[in-house]
Amino acid sequence: MLNIVLFGPPGAGKGTQSSKLIVKYNLVHLSTGDIFRANIKGETELGVLAKSYMDKGQLVPDEVTISMLQSEVLKTPNAKGFIFDGFPRTHAQAEALDKFLYSISTEISLMLALEVEEDELRKRLLLRGKDSGRADDVNPEIIQKRIDVYNAETFPVKDFYQAQNKYKGVNGVGEVDAIFHSLCEEIEVAIG
Ligand code: AMP
Repeated sequence: MLNIVLFGPPGAGKGTQSSKLIVKYNLVHLSTGDIFRANIKGETELGVLAKSYMDKGQLVPDEVTISMLQSEVLKTPNAKGFIFDGFPRTHAQAEALDKFLYSISTEISLMLALEVEEDELRKRLLLRGKDSGRADDVNPEIIQKRIDVYNAETFPVKDFYQAQNKYKGVNGVGEVDAIFHSLCEEIEVAIG
């Protein structure tokens, strides 16, 4: 299996690149943010809970996020691999993901990180907020909160994968296709 963690701050382009990568490598895209938003739309219990955190730019608690992710993975037992987009976002999530994947006889192949400066992220998120319909993309304070949470809780997850020799950073600024090409190059190296 080819299991990729697509990593990077909010606005780095993870969603855009995921949709291209799943086509090329025939993978299943699992975006925890998208799954939460679908639950909000469907007015599920999980959606109501998630919304109370997302609207403030905070992370949804680990237990909830981890069990949701696990059940999503189990929904496609014949997948050739997964792109995890927006997960793991904490050290606890990274550890839980490793354990869970081990329990189903697979593992993370590599973490690909899209590297983008904060000023650029703020600009991109505000622009996206104009038509994304996402409440958390409109308010500059919420955007800043998400970037701060990323720096404090999510960025250190990089060390977890670096320690396993699985971390690859890619410049996330430039043409979408050029960035996609760089990501593919790293994948080709990893799969040999
Ligand atoms: P995203 O679509 O990845 O930008 O995520 C939007 C929001 O969903 C985040 O700001 C969090 O509130 C929540 N969220 C998404 N993924 C996670 C995760 N792995 N852990 C906790 N909260 C998450």
